[in-house]
Amino acid sequence: MARCETTNQSNEILAARSEFVPTALSGGVSESAAPQVDWQTAMRRAIRCSDELRRKLGLVETSSANPTGQSEPSTTAWNESDACERPSGKDSFPTFVPLEYLARIRPGDPDDPLLRQVLATPNEDVDVDGFSADPVGDRVSVAAAGLLHKYQGRALIITTGACGIHCRYCFRREFPYTLLGSRNRSWTPSLDYLGRHPEIDEVLLSGGDPLTLADPKLGELVDAIEAIDHVRRLRFHTRMPIVIPQRVTPWLIERLSTSRLAVWMVVHANHPNELDRHVLATIGKLIDAGIPVLNQAVLLRGVNDDAQVLADLCLKLVDHRIQPYYLHQLDRVRGAAHFEVPVETGMQLMEQLRGMLPGYALPSYVVEQAGADSKTPLVDQNKSGQ
Ligand SMILES: *Cc1c(COP(=O)(O)O)cnc(C)c1O
Ligand code: SF4
Repeated sequence: MARCETTNQSNEILAARSEFVPTALSGGVSESAAPQVDWQTAMRRAIRCSDELRRKLGLVETSSANPTGQSEPSTTAWNESDACERPSGKDSFPTFVPLEYLARIRPGDPDDPLLRQVLATPNEDVDVDGFSADPVGDRVSVAAAGLLHKYQGRALIITTGACGIHCRYCFRREFPYTLLGSRNRSWTPSLDYLGRHPEIDEVLLSGGDPLTLADPKLGELVDAIEAIDHVRRLRFHTRMPIVIPQRVTPWLIERLSTSRLAVWMVVHANHPNELDRHVLATIGKLIDAGIPVLNQAVLLRGVNDDAQVLADLCLKLVDHRIQPYYLHQLDRVRGAAHFEVPVETGMQLMEQLRGMLPGYALPSYVVEQAGADSKTPLVDQNKSGQ
């Protein structure tokens, strides 16, 4: 069965793509045209199949024989698995790439650093020692259904399993959302837990991606958190402003900037090409409205394991008032081994960056260790003179 091959949907995607993707195939990443559809439409028309992705980018050498399934494409849920590309059924993490992100990928370049983040490859099926389903100990940190409480003073709500893009290196690619996540998007157990724990003064909304919730649903959640007196800060961990910037609606900006809570937003971009002018303009609006925006990145082989690329990323961020926060060592999740950069290399890159960037533009290089009471900084003991 090839859900994304069905004629209607393909035509829709093709039609949509012609609005978004510059026709020039010459070198360099072109700026995409202004987003013209609302974010939920952008979710619905995202590419859900790696063959489709390759074809859109002119990366198909031989036409692969695709049995044409004639099932209707789903129009209700956007993260349903696309059976078109996973013959084994072993992987529960289908392709999902919005056209807004596709527009920033260089056509014809199999090594494009944005493409590498989203294109499933056979490397994912290789089992490597030390790479497991729950590398960061999330399962034991579940304090209530849908809530992780690992660190002092802050707790994380798994608001949803849905994302606006599927990153192949994601440490939550194996997370059993249906077992441990917020069931039916009911946050009652999480909110009850927060109410019982006065020492928690910061709530993180993560997932998945909390900004895949529609405005009314998100509004309810923010209302409920505001009603817990001892909570003072609300933090979003989201990639939506990067992948589908039109998700940052005027309602969202208004709601967050008038909250009684101090709202912080942590976005996730790994390469400067992800930051096109729409993304930067959108984040500028959040910052203008008084919401500080930080960025976290993951150190990824073939994407950003290069001092100049990281420096370009950090400078582009601070040029637009976004502060680099964390550079994460890859979490050793099954299927992502081919993205790993050795820690020694990471520390050398950080050392080079230190010589290239203003102090405030330097992220902290950290790794998440199961059982630790914070992210663990990775610092070169020889260099730090301790
Ligand atoms: C990473 C993480 C946080 C946030 O940690 P900070 O160092 O404050 O950014 C909170 N809770 C969980 C479960 C986390 O994984
Ligand atoms: S957006 Fe974040 S949570 Fe979702 S797949 Fe990418 S890295 Fe994972």
